[in-house]
Amino acid sequence: MNLHQFAETHEVTNQPPALDGANLWRIDLPLQEWVRRCGAGWAESRIDAYGALAGGPLMAAGFLANQNKPVFHSHDRYGHRIDLVEFHPAYHELMRTAIEHGLPSLPWAHPQPGAHVARAGMTYLHSQAEAGSGCPLTMTFASVPALRLQPDLAEQWLPKVLATEYDPRNVGMAHKAGVTLGMAMTEKQGGTDVRANTTRAFAVGSPGPGQAYELVGHKWFCSAPMCDAFLTLAQTDKGLSCFLLPRHRPDDTRNEFYIQRLKDKLGNCSNASSEVEFRGALAWMIGEEGRGVPTIIEMVAMTRFDCMVGSSALMRQALSQAAHHCAHRQVGGRLLADQPLMQNVLADLALESEAALALSLRMGQALDHL
Ligand SMILES: Cc1cc2nc3c(=O)[nH]c(=O)nc-3n(C[C@H](O)[C@H](O)[C@H](O)COP(=O)(O)OP(=O)(O)OC[C@H]3O[C@@H](n4cnc5c(N)ncnc54)[C@H](O)[C@@H]3O)c2cc1C
Repeated sequence: MNLHQFAETHEVTNQPPALDGANLWRIDLPLQEWVRRCGAGWAESRIDAYGALAGGPLMAAGFLANQNKPVFHSHDRYGHRIDLVEFHPAYHELMRTAIEHGLPSLPWAHPQPGAHVARAGMTYLHSQAEAGSGCPLTMTFASVPALRLQPDLAEQWLPKVLATEYDPRNVGMAHKAGVTLGMAMTEKQGGTDVRANTTRAFAVGSPGPGQAYELVGHKWFCSAPMCDAFLTLAQTDKGLSCFLLPRHRPDDTRNEFYIQRLKDKLGNCSNASSEVEFRGALAWMIGEEGRGVPTIIEMVAMTRFDCMVGSSALMRQALSQAAHHCAHRQVGGRLLADQPLMQNVLADLALESEAALALSLRMGQALDHL
């Protein structure tokens, strides 16, 4: 008797093949059209190359980076505080690829008409592969206009912010060719209302723009806490002010920046979001004292531009998966893609997806002409 005939429980039929390995640029006609229409036609081959990566190795890395969440280590095994977040290698692959292709830097390092659109196009592709790494990539990109408000600090930091090198080592910025930046505004009691912030800043010597301060307080949200420095808000006698707070002091010692815990999140799992304390953390004032909100808004506004790009990307990836599924799945003897009511649903999704893309890239074009 052949026992195998009893071991066969089922045969897999009527399931779509996985949508793996597609070049996300080449299968996206609306993206190609809007990139050209918004003035970034010159970057097509560059975006095309990123499309192949996004649909292939980055998509695969995205699954791994989200299945293997970052792990927080408060102390080493001898009891020393280390405040280290350990990421899966796939997360580093996502970060490295994006930085080497200029996702945080392109329009600032090589300004020309269409540069913001070209970068938004690549970010749109990256976000379809993996959205969590978009958080530090975006914050690094967005920090540039705010940093430029303090030329002495900008001179020191910008060459490394704009470098196409990723260096995740837990060492001071002096030892790195490239750095990433984060943002810590939000406190428990205030949320969007940052005027309710209670973190205090005390001048080390003379007060004022570009000067050193020590910060004492907490932040309820500090995403990507392994960034090399953060723009943050704290109160001085003149009101809320903006500061650049590095994770290491200039003498290479750890700054007084302590991670309390990582957030437990429903999504965005590859990315570490943390709660932090500043216990006399050394930081330098950016922009005018008491004008912290208008200063940090220069960064926040650019992160919100990327929220448009990232949300459009999620809509597009959902549409791609839905259309692919319906092109392979039969119900009632016909492919779903041939069922009139399903065609209505897919057409609605396609329209909304393209509208979101058009608005985002048109906004990129506006940034190119600021
Ligand atoms: C995954 C994740 C990562 C984050 N990372 C960071 C980070 O790195 N750095 C950082 O600083 N913050 C970060 N945040 C915090 C985020 O920016 C805050 O959650 C946000 O500012 C909203 O604050 P809140 O949740 O306390 O909402 P609240 O301030 O309590 O607001 C509640 C709701 O009211 C709405 N609202 C507020 N004011 C008005 C108004 N005048 N009229 C009508 N509606 C209003 C808000 O839009 C919101 O929907 C992160 C949040 C998340 C979820």
